[in-house]
Amino acid sequence: MIPVRGYEGRRLAVLGLGRSGMATARALANGGAEALVWDDSPEARARAEAEGLTLHDLSRPGAFEHVAALIVSPGIPHLYPAPNRHVAAALDAGVPVDNDIGLFFRSLGLGEWVRFDQPPRVVAVTGSNGKSTTTALIAHILAADGRPVQMAGNIGRGVLDLDPPVDGEVIVLELSSYQTELARALTPDIAVFTNLTPDHLDRHGGLGGYFAAKRRLFAEGGPDRAIIGVDEPEGRFLAGQMAEAAEDARVIRTSSGRKLTGPGWMVFARKGFLAEWRKGRQVAASDLRALPGLPGAHNHQNACAAWAVARTLGMAPRAIEAALASFPGLPHRSQLVAEAGGVRYVNDSKATNADSAARALAAFDRIRWIAGGLGKDGGIAALVPQLGNVVKAYLIGHSARDFALQIGDCPHEICETMERAVARASAEAAPGETVLLAPAAASFDQYRDFEARGEDFMARVAEVLGNRS
Ligand code: ADP
Repeated sequence: MIPVRGYEGRRLAVLGLGRSGMATARALANGGAEALVWDDSPEARARAEAEGLTLHDLSRPGAFEHVAALIVSPGIPHLYPAPNRHVAAALDAGVPVDNDIGLFFRSLGLGEWVRFDQPPRVVAVTGSNGKSTTTALIAHILAADGRPVQMAGNIGRGVLDLDPPVDGEVIVLELSSYQTELARALTPDIAVFTNLTPDHLDRHGGLGGYFAAKRRLFAEGGPDRAIIGVDEPEGRFLAGQMAEAAEDARVIRTSSGRKLTGPGWMVFARKGFLAEWRKGRQVAASDLRALPGLPGAHNHQNACAAWAVARTLGMAPRAIEAALASFPGLPHRSQLVAEAGGVRYVNDSKATNADSAARALAAFDRIRWIAGGLGKDGGIAALVPQLGNVVKAYLIGHSARDFALQIGDCPHEICETMERAVARASAEAAPGETVLLAPAAASFDQYRDFEARGEDFMARVAEVLGNRS
């Protein structure tokens, strides 16, 4: 745990008692502050009380008297589409609103680091897609090099739950736009921006608000190095804003698909090859085509960002290359789950929107595509250009019929359930083809979450292949 500093003897309110809220309350108490916790859900309150936390009803008049700050969980809207009533009450009372990320950056490294040879460093990753993969990949590369590393944020562990860092440790954080928008301190040593596509627009009042939330990671703390994906205009704008001049090596530009030129520092991937350029010349290159955990151009974008981080931290190209090859990938993202009779089975259940599903469809050819679920606004028009790779679609869930209309001439079959889709796709697949789950839809019509959907896919694949052998 990272004890929260700077609030000793003061009262702070914590709103939202999920994983990060509970960790925040414990870390506040550990640092000598008084944590007053609240959640609108009675079950969450009961869990907190059972852990010995002090409940404090934030809806009561005067609830924010003598409260030094309100710490808000990322799931709670603070401004758009409408402010949460407790957040609004705190702001009315003039109480500062912050989150666990802000507390983390204020509390890290006060005191004990004077004895360290190499102060710990924080790498923070944001962007619309690829955050988790890039975060896990950076941690994997550094661990493979024998360096102490911890990973937290949107991925797995609350930031205040981290162990106090040891000498030379690197902390890798995945930060969502909800988190970067609210944090009152954001001071990573290295900040990474993967890409930007429209998402969560209702929570940010539109695309400009969404981009502004992510941009705070760069604008607020002034990281020593900014690694920025420049495949969209927003990334190019951000890189331009961060660099003092074209040759300014505090910015590393990354791309998947474009050759980047100029006197600065660049890492880009094209046709499966990564190249690193500095001062107008190539300084390293790597073949990404056969990496088992990182298939497709979208994962090559993630590899470029992770490469740039590892180079910033002084790693040699060959060591990074070896670590890229041993990265197993994350569950439910382009995850190879079986290979039988020349047919590959890939689980990309996390492809919950048209854009990420389009990336998955571009990563393989001759695809038996399992798709559908709870469709999103905007439909699946964004992936129609990738349908050339699809041999046939097997449509499931609530949106099955709607998707059938949207994909037009592409051969398809309405299967309704995962069980039937996997059985049909597997029966029809020929050697060299890939059975790919990339739903382009949320899972909540049939499943608890995208993980449960991916697990069902894997279980059905195991069943079908087991019956066959
Ligand atoms: P995030 O944490 O940003 O949601 P993930 O790494 O969990 O990102 O990937 C989410 C989805 O997007 C998965 O379907 C994955 O295959 C796809 N994806 C991964 N990296 C990228 C990328 N760089 N660009 C677009 N899509 C990506």
